Amino acid sequence: MELTRRDFLKLCGGTAAGAAFLGMIGPESFLEAAPIDIPLRKRIGEKTTICCYCGVGCGAIVASDENGKAINIEGDPDHPINQGALCSKGAALIQVTNNERRLDRVSYRAPYSSDWEEVSWDWAIDKIARDIKKTRDEGWTYKDEKGRVVNHTEAIGWDGSASVNNEDAYVFTKFARALGITYLEHCARLCHSSTVAALGASFGRGAMTNHWIDIKNSNCIMIIGSNAAENHPLSFKWVTKAMEKGAKLISVDPRFTRTSSKADIYAKLRSGTDTAFIGGMIKYVIEDIENHPENYNMTYIKEYTDATLLIDPDFKGPADLDGLFCGYDASKRAYDRSKWVYQLDDKGIPRRDISLKDPNCVFQLLKKQFSRYDVDTVCSITGTPKDVYREVCETYAATGKPDKAATIIYAMGATQHTNAVQMIRSYSILQLLLGNIGVAGGGINAARGQSNVQGSTDHAILYDILPGYLKTPHPEDVDLEAYLKHYTPTSNDPLSANWWQNYKKYIVSLLKAWYGDAAVASNGFAYDYLPKVEGDHSHIAMAEAIENGVVKGLISPAHNTAVSGPNVNLEREGLGKLDWLVISELWESETAAFWKRPGVDPAQIKTEVFLLPAKASMEKEGSLTNSGRWMQWRYKCCDGPSMARNDLWIVTQLVMRVKELYATEGGEYPDPILNLTWDYGDEPDVHKVAQEINGYDLETGQLLPSFAKLKSDGTTSSGNWIYCGSYTEDGNMAARRDPTQTPAQANIGLYPNWAWCWPVNRRIIYNRASVDLDGNPFNPDKPVVSWHPLLGEWEGDIPDGGWPPMSQEGTKLPFLMTSEGRAHLFVTGKVLNDGPMPEHYEPWESPVKNLLSGIQSDPVVTIWKSLVKGDASKYPIVATTYRVSEHWQAGQMTRNLPWLVELMPEMFVELSEELAAEKGIRNGGRVIVESARGKIEAVAVVTKRFSPFSIDGKKVHQIGMPWHWGYMGLSTGDSANMLTPNIGDANTTIPEYKAFLCDIRAK
Ligand code: SF4
Repeated sequence: MELTRRDFLKLCGGTAAGAAFLGMIGPESFLEAAPIDIPLRKRIGEKTTICCYCGVGCGAIVASDENGKAINIEGDPDHPINQGALCSKGAALIQVTNNERRLDRVSYRAPYSSDWEEVSWDWAIDKIARDIKKTRDEGWTYKDEKGRVVNHTEAIGWDGSASVNNEDAYVFTKFARALGITYLEHCARLCHSSTVAALGASFGRGAMTNHWIDIKNSNCIMIIGSNAAENHPLSFKWVTKAMEKGAKLISVDPRFTRTSSKADIYAKLRSGTDTAFIGGMIKYVIEDIENHPENYNMTYIKEYTDATLLIDPDFKGPADLDGLFCGYDASKRAYDRSKWVYQLDDKGIPRRDISLKDPNCVFQLLKKQFSRYDVDTVCSITGTPKDVYREVCETYAATGKPDKAATIIYAMGATQHTNAVQMIRSYSILQLLLGNIGVAGGGINAARGQSNVQGSTDHAILYDILPGYLKTPHPEDVDLEAYLKHYTPTSNDPLSANWWQNYKKYIVSLLKAWYGDAAVASNGFAYDYLPKVEGDHSHIAMAEAIENGVVKGLISPAHNTAVSGPNVNLEREGLGKLDWLVISELWESETAAFWKRPGVDPAQIKTEVFLLPAKASMEKEGSLTNSGRWMQWRYKCCDGPSMARNDLWIVTQLVMRVKELYATEGGEYPDPILNLTWDYGDEPDVHKVAQEINGYDLETGQLLPSFAKLKSDGTTSSGNWIYCGSYTEDGNMAARRDPTQTPAQANIGLYPNWAWCWPVNRRIIYNRASVDLDGNPFNPDKPVVSWHPLLGEWEGDIPDGGWPPMSQEGTKLPFLMTSEGRAHLFVTGKVLNDGPMPEHYEPWESPVKNLLSGIQSDPVVTIWKSLVKGDASKYPIVATTYRVSEHWQAGQMTRNLPWLVELMPEMFVELSEELAAEKGIRNGGRVIVESARGKIEAVAVVTKRFSPFSIDGKKVHQIGMPWHWGYMGLSTGDSANMLTPNIGDANTTIPEYKAFLCDIRAK
């Protein structure tokens, strides 16, 4: 697109980068010539992109010259989320594309070689395809030892990525499944898998409930387990907006962060004690509800949650069993969950007690469970000052009024714990008791750290799900019928929409998208092609399988596991046991260069490594999905290195070569490969992938407008049902840039015509819980939806189910993704492994005893053989990891950018003045931090931001460190993950990165 002089001036005005560009034509001549036309020396194009760093999803404008080189990148002033602003990382975007450190050749490292050699794309693709086929064929399993069909290979792993586009993520999933890969993971396992499990179990969908702009509608914002001001800086813009209108900000964190510095209340807590902290708040709210029901939304609690539902009378919880739930088998370290169920009436509908008095109703069980979480006990566990804690309880509980709303923002400070799912469950319970889900300014906002971690999770680069959160088949699911019976929930309650009853439509449409004409009713729509998976194949399990020689080849696009994995020394060693490793990257990352890391002799490492130069986000086209579920399109704005290729092109080449090999040479179970649809062209067209994800009416060839049109008879296709409606006959919905809103929409900032949002462009999910039984908003000043009685329809956001209000015939309950139609204070059945309600346990490594029960740590936490536990006698200090504003995740995207390295040049450790005095450590001196897994060296930052905790009368120190560093890049340093334990949460196996034991000393 050509730029007019006016556009050019607008583009360059007022920015440092713009001023630098003006320097090329001379500032004086610009000033003199401003009133008249300037003949531009270069033709300049301008396109929009979305920032490639965090999950806020800020818009930027890229100006590029006629040679395809970016000459300026700045914030998009029209973008509703960031309104032209960018944080330090976003402002440095241009150095991602204009960077001499970018990979610009295809590199191959032969076994035992000490250097890379340059090879052609053709040679590399051929060799990789051959390696894939050989490893797959040699490691293929048709049936397991029990004789069940599994059709899979465990010999190839796939690890990555959350930084690729949706369309890339989708083809990764599709190709990996066709190969029969079971070890299929990406970084979402390590950052937010606990979010998906906890929010899914609580509300029905495992995603952020509201969106960034909606934070402005809040009366109270609790940021816990997140330093949003630093790590999601543009999200904080909306926190600030809310505060300008009187909202209170509560910051709960072990460290006094930049977020804390802006807060009305700062509450310190020891890492890993969130459940105790929130449990005490739940106790406060429950007692207050009983004493002052007029201050709470009792309609919401009774009608929209399961508070009134009765649980099996034989159920017992930690209050009865000293920290355990009923059904625990110590020999198996697992629960029999048969008593964690509702009582059913003779129609099979859960029984209720609307008075909330029955001792077996969920409300009373909740009250009993949290009655032990009194202020004294909680503060003895968390180390929070009691007066501050009481203030938090009172302030937050005040949003229980129907016309008030509070939101919780959290990130990896919550998600990366051994009982992270239950911590996030505790947030959900608190929010439900306060009627804060589904309303404007409410919700639970899971701040995603990577730009497309939401999208890559939606598209299921994860071993246990298929796109759209369908389940990966288990060997017991012998055919499509058995699979559907296993995973399609039933409900006898006419008030329950039980939306997952549509499961068959979604899985059949997925199989049609993947296998086309080969998927027919008579073969169960090619169900056998899907690999069947039993047991844990998550990140740490894959690391163990690599270490043990089960996984022999690993494909790892844009994922730097050699920095981000827990107990990372073990993972680095494991990479040397692989036969081959394929990396596509912008940079020579630590993972790509693991064989030449410090202290290692390359001549001893057999792994052959392929390092493929990839295009950066602004050098290719496609969509990504931010934390708030906004699917946004970004364009190819500039070219990047000439030898780099986009991920879709790379995968397409591999697919074509692998197909060719199986077609000409045969091999083990070639059918899913040969019949895999791949109609994107030789130079693959990303729009065709986006359209396939959306889905077609196969009888008319038309793109479908909504998943409501999907069918189970094979006449529709959709690669991901929750994205159906994103690319329709009306065009690419994600590319929309129309800021117009109705007055009601503008009132709360819905922006329904900007980009697209799953599901069905609904901006606030569970929004029918924001109205009373007649459809009137609980908060008339900030309605999300409201029922228009004369028109007989909803106004505002897309309603979460279009049925009429609860007082009318034909209605359905608002939490339509749960089988009961109500949100879950109590999670029944086989959904969670470690309890239907949260219970505080100490972190796996802790310097203190659990004050609430005799059970020290989560009794069903996942422990692998390679795990080494540190003892408090040797490692008495609590350690945690975190991020800084100037760096991003495993560092490869920021430690190669000179501007960001200049701002934040070196690995450091923060510790309190008290601990520094005890240990003789000076500010700026070098220190050694040691855990049971390893030791690192860093610069000491002695600070008031940390102070010792008083835990049950004992002084406990905590230190903290960023985890961005490694041995490659412009700035190198020891990785914090050399210290962290490879232990996994009981439900998702997310590792414990946030609370572990160490010691520190001056070097
Ligand atoms: S890193 Fe996040 S907050 Fe910063 S500009 Fe990018 S998307 Fe926005």
